[in-house]
Amino acid sequence: THFGYQSIPESEKEEKVKEVFERVADTYDLMNDAMSLGVHRLWKDHFVKSAAPKPTFKCLDVAGGTGDIAFKLHKYMRNVNRDCEKIVVCDINTEMLRVGEERAAQMGVGENFTWVEGNAEVLQFPDNTFDLYTIAYGIRNCTHIDKVLEEAYRVLKPGGRFMCLEFSEVNNPLISQVYDKYSHDVIPVMGQLIAGDFESYQYLVESIRKFPNQETFAEMVAAAGFEVVEYENLTFGVTAIHSGYKL
Ligand code: SAM
Repeated sequence: THFGYQSIPESEKEEKVKEVFERVADTYDLMNDAMSLGVHRLWKDHFVKSAAPKPTFKCLDVAGGTGDIAFKLHKYMRNVNRDCEKIVVCDINTEMLRVGEERAAQMGVGENFTWVEGNAEVLQFPDNTFDLYTIAYGIRNCTHIDKVLEEAYRVLKPGGRFMCLEFSEVNNPLISQVYDKYSHDVIPVMGQLIAGDFESYQYLVESIRKFPNQETFAEMVAAAGFEVVEYENLTFGVTAIHSGYKL
């Protein structure tokens, strides 16, 4: 790429990703709406509905960033029963967590979340702790996907479910062409105009291209020990939901 992100050694990826999200934290929510024309909200709603957490569930949202998934999980659980479990949000980046914590406070729901700085590849939670593990648009930023999956498996209780929302491979040739052009030519420019940051958004687009496709990722989830592994394509596979159970 113009900026050499493709060639950054594995050992530096974590630091680079940290820098990117530190820079974009304050404009992250606005950019999501702009880049996806608001559609990311529908994908996230569908994701949480598919997860259907019970109010008694202990939920962990990894790479939770500014809290989008955690807020939706909480809303879903609270609608079933006002008395629901606190949700743990874990992210490697304190800036993203800070924005999330502020949003929660503004919405008056702060007491329902615990914000934890941590790396998806080495979680600080004990074995068999959670009923639901979610990770949305986070796993492709991690250096070792297999370690993330291993850790997800470890912290889930037997019977617990792993759910991942991530950009994936578009399965329609026409849409694929439009999407490629849009992500390559439009998104970094939008990043420049809205967030004053071309480079970070260029990185985000590159990371989407490099992520394994639906079938390959499903195989990786199964290789980590998960069972009943399945995936669902959303919007022609622009995004996919993968899930599996620890049995
Ligand atoms: N889940 C949120 C959402 O859907 O809006 C945020 C997604 S954001 C694109 C990706 C997040 O992954 C960032 O907040 C980033 O800090 C976090 N991240 C990247 N690498 C990570 C790692 N190794 N462990 C935990 N979080 C990580």
